[in-house]
Amino acid sequence: MRILVTNDDGIYAPGLAALAEAVSVFGETLIVAPLAEQSGVSHSITYLTPLLARVIERDGRVYGHAVAGSPADCVKLAVLELCPERPDLVVSGINSGSNSGIDVLYSGTVAAAIEGAFFGIPAIAVSLTTDSPPDYPKAVRLVGELIGQILELQPRPGSLWNVNLPDSRAGWPVGVRVVPISLARDRDVMIRRIDPRGRTYYWPDVDDSVRTPHHPDSDVEALAAGFATITPLQFDLTDRDMLAGLQARNWRFPQE
Ligand code: MN
Repeated sequence: MRILVTNDDGIYAPGLAALAEAVSVFGETLIVAPLAEQSGVSHSITYLTPLLARVIERDGRVYGHAVAGSPADCVKLAVLELCPERPDLVVSGINSGSNSGIDVLYSGTVAAAIEGAFFGIPAIAVSLTTDSPPDYPKAVRLVGELIGQILELQPRPGSLWNVNLPDSRAGWPVGVRVVPISLARDRDVMIRRIDPRGRTYYWPDVDDSVRTPHHPDSDVEALAAGFATITPLQFDLTDRDMLAGLQARNWRFPQE
């Protein structure tokens, strides 16, 4: 099995090496990852400027390709150009920080997996909750085990999986829960300051003095309770419930 390994934290991130190690037992890995951190860039792509890529060595051996672009760029470039053969699996992570709830939509880690799924390749995004310092050796074991079980299911082409591990501090995960993403919005705030030149600037932040109520059967709650989570995702944004009713309407223009 040929496995493309990418992330959004950048090619030097320890989580990327951990993920490559975790999946190396399942096949041949190729790392193609952003040169610089791309957290929160979601599914952005580079098309106004050329995309530069270069080989990165570690300990005198080829480690992977660093791409001066987004996670989605990395997967596109890898599948179309850098992979000697089309990969059978795309894995993205291990992100430093969970990707749960609506953060899934901002996530570059998940976007890289979505890009793999666009190509019809099964794709898995993996993130680690980092409320305390991450324990990557432990994460390697847990992630290897979960990805092995996903592969046992023979994931269909283009299927998309979001995997989160709970915080390392809690010890071994309580278990695994398959749950939908939480749709509750945290209390987003903008911290307003004045810079030395008198201009107003803003830092986006979250007010966590009030706990956001999340659905008990959601990824956010399961992670908080010490479970690892698996969420099957899909990228078809079409509202199927509205579609038929709207198609039945007589849409019209003014008379010419
Ligand atoms: Mn990240």
